[in-house]
Amino acid sequence: MYQMMLYKKLSQVRLIIFIAAFITLTGNSKFLEKTLLVYPLTENWVFICSLFAWLFVFLSALLLIFCYRHTIKPILIILLIISSIVSYAANNFGIVFDHNMIANTFETNTTEFLELVSFKSFLYLLLLGLLPSYFVIKTEITELPLQSQLWQRAKALVIMILIFSLLTIGFFKHYSSFARETNLNLYINPSYYLYSMTKYVDSKVETSTAPFQQIGLDAEINKKTNNQRLVILVIGETARMDRFSLNGYERQTNPLLAKEDVVSFRQMTSCGTDTSWSIPCMFSSLNRSSYNHKEGKNMNNALDIINGAGVEVLWFENNSDSKGVADRISYIDFKSEDVNPVCDIECRDEGMLNSLKDYIDWQSGEDTLVVMHTMGSHGPAYYKRYPSPFEVFSPACQTNQLNECSNEEINNAYDNTIVYADYVLSRLINLFKKYPAGKEIAIFYISDHGESLGESGIYLHGMPYLIAPIEQKQIAALMWFNEEFLELLDINIISEKIDLPLSHDNLFHTLLGLMNINTALYQEKMDIVAQ
Ligand SMILES: [Zn+2]
Repeated sequence: MYQMMLYKKLSQVRLIIFIAAFITLTGNSKFLEKTLLVYPLTENWVFICSLFAWLFVFLSALLLIFCYRHTIKPILIILLIISSIVSYAANNFGIVFDHNMIANTFETNTTEFLELVSFKSFLYLLLLGLLPSYFVIKTEITELPLQSQLWQRAKALVIMILIFSLLTIGFFKHYSSFARETNLNLYINPSYYLYSMTKYVDSKVETSTAPFQQIGLDAEINKKTNNQRLVILVIGETARMDRFSLNGYERQTNPLLAKEDVVSFRQMTSCGTDTSWSIPCMFSSLNRSSYNHKEGKNMNNALDIINGAGVEVLWFENNSDSKGVADRISYIDFKSEDVNPVCDIECRDEGMLNSLKDYIDWQSGEDTLVVMHTMGSHGPAYYKRYPSPFEVFSPACQTNQLNECSNEEINNAYDNTIVYADYVLSRLINLFKKYPAGKEIAIFYISDHGESLGESGIYLHGMPYLIAPIEQKQIAALMWFNEEFLELLDINIISEKIDLPLSHDNLFHTLLGLMNINTALYQEKMDIVAQ
C-alpha cells in the first residue's frame, strides 16, 4: 500500500484526511475494546461505526486548523510517532496518557525509559509510526494558489463540521450517555493525550509563574529529652501492601522483617498512582483531595519546614529524583558507582546504608531526618531490581515485555523485589539496633504507590486515581523504633492503627511529630505516632 502511495502528489487536505483515518483506525484498539464492554457490538454496531467516524472527523478538523504548508509534515510525523507509542503502551499495559502520565513520561530518566523498550514496542513504532511517517515525507504536496488552497480547506472543514453535527444529532442519546461514561474518553488516541499534553504545559506554566509560598515559618524543635532524635524515612517504590507476608501474604516475602519488632500498616493508601504525583503530594501539607502541583510544589513541604526548625535534613536518592521535594535541602545521588559501593547491573538500595552510617557517625549529634528514596520494585523490569541470590521465587519473568511472561513468572519476579526490600530494611534496622545509647531512632518505610500485576489485564501503575484499581493505591508501610524511642511511646497506641484507614495525608504530620516539631500547621489527629 505504501509503495502505491509513494511519490504520489497529494493536496494538503487529502494528506490530512489520509493520516487522520490511519491514526483513528490503527491507534484505537484499546478504546474499541473498552467501548465494547459498555456497548456490546451486536446491538450497537451502527453507533460504534458512527463513533469512529466521529473521531476521524474530529481529528481531521483539528489537523485542518493547525496544518499548513510548513507545519503539515512535522505535525503529522510527530503525531504518528507519538500515537504509535501511546498505542503500544495502551494495548500492552493498559496505560492511560492523562496529564499525570505525561508528566511521568517527561520526568522519567533514560534508564527507566529503556526498560520499556522491547521488540514489540519497536514493531509498533515501525508499523504505526515510522513507515507512515516515511510516506508523509515522500508525499509531494500539490502547490495550489493560496486562494484555492484556502477554499479547499474551508470546504473540507465545513463538510467535517456538518458530518460531526449530523452524527451527534443522529446518535444524540448514545453520545450523551457516552459522555457520562467518563472513563472511555481516556483511551481515545490521539485526542486524549493531546488534551493531556496541553493540560501538562498549562500547569507547568502556571507553576513556574506562581510565587513560592513560605509556610510553617513558626516551626521549632520542642525537644523532650537530651537524646539525639534520628528518623530514617524510607520511600519504597511500587510496593504493594498485600505482597508483604507481614500483612498476611501466603508467600514468605518478609523472612527477615518477621524477626523484628515492626508495626506494619495494612490500610495505607497512596496520594497518587505514580512517583511524580505521590512524592510531592506525600510531603505536602495539602491533602490528596486538594493537592495540585501548582500549589503543592510552590510552597514549603514537610522537609523544608523541619529543616527550617533546625533539624539536619538529607535526601539520599537511588531512584529517579526527588520530584522537586529536596530542591532546598542536602541531596546525595547514589545512582553512580562513584558514590554507591553496591552496584552490579544497577546501583542497589543497600548501597545507601554504609554512607548513612558514616554520616551519622561523623555528625555531632543534631536531630536528623534522612530520606532514602529507593528503587524498590520499579517495573516492568522487576528482574533487574534484585541481586541474583534474592531470586527466591522462580521461574521469574526475565524481560520487561510482561506479555511474554506468564502471570506466575511476573508475580515471582515482583515478589523477589519484595524479598530484596525486606533484606534492605532489615539491614537498616540492624544497623541502628547496635547503636550506643543516647539516640532515639525511628525508621518509617512507606511506598509511593502500588502496582497492577495483571489483575483484569492491567499492568504497572499510573492509572487516573478515580479509576485506578486498589492494587495501585494500597501500599506497604511500616515502622520500627529503637529502645530509647520506645521508652517515650506506648507502642500499643500505634499498633492499634494497623487496620485503620491511613494515607499519605498522614505523612506530613507524622514527620513533624517524629521530629518533635511545633508549628501551627501540625494536626495531632493526623500524626500516626501521636500519643
Ligand atoms: Zn513510583
